Amino acid sequence: MQKNTITKLLALPNFEVAEVLDHHDDSLHLYIDLIDPVGPVCSACGDVHRQPAHSIGWSRVEDLPLCGKRTFLYVPKRKIRCPVDGKIRVEQFDQLRGRFTRRFAEQVYRLTSITTNAEAGWFLNLDDEVVYRIDRSMLEELAREKLFPVPAPSHISVDEVAWQKWHKYVTNVIDIDQRKVIWNHDGRGNQTMDAFFADLGEESSAKIEAAACDGARGYLSSIKQHAKNALIVLDHFHVKSYLNDAVDTVRKEELRKARQDKNRDVAELLHCRKRFILMQGKSSKRQRTVLDQLAELNDTVCRAMLLKEQFLEVYRAGSRKAAQTGLRQWIGEAFASRIPAFIELGLKFFRKRHYILNYFQVQITAAISEGINNKIKRLKRMAYGYKDVAYFLLKIHQHCGLLSPRLST
Ligand SMILES: [Zn+2]
Repeated sequence: MQKNTITKLLALPNFEVAEVLDHHDDSLHLYIDLIDPVGPVCSACGDVHRQPAHSIGWSRVEDLPLCGKRTFLYVPKRKIRCPVDGKIRVEQFDQLRGRFTRRFAEQVYRLTSITTNAEAGWFLNLDDEVVYRIDRSMLEELAREKLFPVPAPSHISVDEVAWQKWHKYVTNVIDIDQRKVIWNHDGRGNQTMDAFFADLGEESSAKIEAAACDGARGYLSSIKQHAKNALIVLDHFHVKSYLNDAVDTVRKEELRKARQDKNRDVAELLHCRKRFILMQGKSSKRQRTVLDQLAELNDTVCRAMLLKEQFLEVYRAGSRKAAQTGLRQWIGEAFASRIPAFIELGLKFFRKRHYILNYFQVQITAAISEGINNKIKRLKRMAYGYKDVAYFLLKIHQHCGLLSPRLST
């Protein structure tokens, strides 16, 4: 192939192919050169230094594959003495990023936005550490551009995610209408939430119409203070997870008792492997079978399950008033059940009843919070837990927030 044809295919602004160095079945090696040499841009101070070059070196960078072959470019780089610090510096090019072209790095970032770093590395023949470095530097650069100012939302949902054991959390704020995370930070509670409102600004904070959260005191006090016009909603998603937690507490307690009494039938049914069956909707066939067996063997877990299902009925009420009646009845039944976990939950729902009922004024769907929560859980599994919280926050934005190439408008 003629060199100028390859130059056209390569389409790397201001570079031309000087020589085809090597050509294998799976790779292509090209010497490239500047078409219109301008003064070298200093990698230290960013200025153009026009004095004669001290020397010329070569650097090998990987570019996007050409016709399916991995493509390596050998780029001449002038070395110049920087007048600012008097040291010898290598020139830099906009089209290059370290050992890769910028467009190659962008490709890595697009891949890591839909899959794990390890899988992206396998696909591109790069080791994990290299993928991590490219991914992180792309995300940091995009974060500087896109995370501030925070886009003003009208309906938000606030949620915390554990990112490591020993109570390390990050808080995510979701714009429900845009269906994405618009802000996140490590920590939880009122100080973290105050930081969100500080970033958002007073005017935009006052324009928030509704805020869904788990009803934790820290978030509540901060929202009340800054988002003065927001209706606070304890949303369906969080209520459901409170109910699931209560059922699970009952299951564990009954499992412990069954083991103590050497009741193997019950222990087998309540084993944590069956936990997920208990969490599913009642329509599931497997759950019905397990429930039928439980009804015969262990009444308490079965009653806990039914209390959970009954609560979900409250959300099917047509009006706030009907829901209020349903909620009052349910709290009564929770107290009457004499199951400690449900008595505690009954008290919690009584204290937070106004927030639960506010849902009937602003129907904030649980699906968005739930979907994002699942994506974040998947993200944690993919990375086997993040040791570095700053990177975890960026990855959340990359997969379900402002740094996602798929969600950006
Ligand atoms: Zn310089």
